[in-house]
Amino acid sequence: MAEEKKGFSTRAIHDGQSADSVTGAVNVPIYASSTYVQEEIGKNKGYEYSRVSNPTRTALEENFASLESGISAHVFASGMAAITALCTMMKSGDHVVCSDNMYGGTTRLFDQVLVRYGLEFTYVDTSHAESVDRAIRSTTKLVHIETPTNPMMALTDIAAVADICHRHGVELSVDNTFMSPYFQRPIELGADIVMHSTTKFLNGHSDGLGGVLIGTKPEHAETFAFVQKCTGGILSPFECWLLLRGVKTLAVRMRQHDANGRKVADWLRKHPKVRKVFYPGLPDHPQHALAKRQMSGFGSMLSFDLGSLEAANRMLKKLHICSLAESLGGVETLISHPASMTHAAIGEEGRRKLGITDGLVRISVGIEDVEDILADLDQALTAA
Ligand SMILES: *Cc1c(COP(=O)(O)O)cnc(C)c1O
Repeated sequence: MAEEKKGFSTRAIHDGQSADSVTGAVNVPIYASSTYVQEEIGKNKGYEYSRVSNPTRTALEENFASLESGISAHVFASGMAAITALCTMMKSGDHVVCSDNMYGGTTRLFDQVLVRYGLEFTYVDTSHAESVDRAIRSTTKLVHIETPTNPMMALTDIAAVADICHRHGVELSVDNTFMSPYFQRPIELGADIVMHSTTKFLNGHSDGLGGVLIGTKPEHAETFAFVQKCTGGILSPFECWLLLRGVKTLAVRMRQHDANGRKVADWLRKHPKVRKVFYPGLPDHPQHALAKRQMSGFGSMLSFDLGSLEAANRMLKKLHICSLAESLGGVETLISHPASMTHAAIGEEGRRKLGITDGLVRISVGIEDVEDILADLDQALTAA
């Protein structure tokens, strides 16, 4: 009989990370070794060359596979390297359906690099599952979604989209960066592949980049390992170790992110200078019921509208604790202005379609004392 699955935190702290058999060290060492001594021709201890595999990386990959309920995980040098690796599953002429409000770097990779290799992409509003159904063609190989989206926090029903995909014999991959496996596990809802920018919540300390692909089939494990070996965009042993360290506190960090996120969203909603707050945890979010169903928390990503670029800028200049910066998912509160930062490249028309106004501000609420975050927002909003 299969061993009963342990709790999330226990797995985060122990899976893939048994004590060192030689020294008893409780932490997996940083194996800073490019190559491995072989006893005789064809006889090694499982490692030959670190582009192919490395023991620190193996520990991390086993850990991630467990946390996302997959059978394999493969880590890459960044989230973008992971998405690039994902797309090598396809060949010229293949078609991908994806969310129309994805991470900007993903859209750039698809539209400015991969189309040159004959891949085709169709962008639809995946929060209406039937639009995925309509967009699938005979050449469609993959549906790639992000939920919740950045920065509008729109949700896609993972189980409904997975059903549609499987009826058509198409695989579903989910970029789960915003929620982390602590709050959302797409594979348990029917997704075939989960992708993360580990740079964000999984690392959690804003001190390293990384990406991962978690698979559910032996072909995924084979393909992604082969891509690591062929293209070489792997994660270094040091970065793997940082992630092993970060992920041990994922559960406690996410619980605090969520508690702070809810308080900040609720506080902003009542603030007279704030026109609208976008947060799946608010009862007036159009997909609040879906959020409660497919996520076990609401997280700490939210956006709010201040009405104009001038108001947003006046506020952003006044912040002391919250930092104006791109990225998200770290212990510190980061604030960004999508129209001029993450979503500048899609142009005014593109932003209008997605509802991204010039007054929109996005927060990745950190785990500082929430009273201090609120006080900082309060004094800054006075200036807005
Ligand atoms: C940051 C991010 C990426 C890209 O990851 P990098 O590690 O920056 O390459 C992809 N998807 C989402 C949702 C992200 O937030």
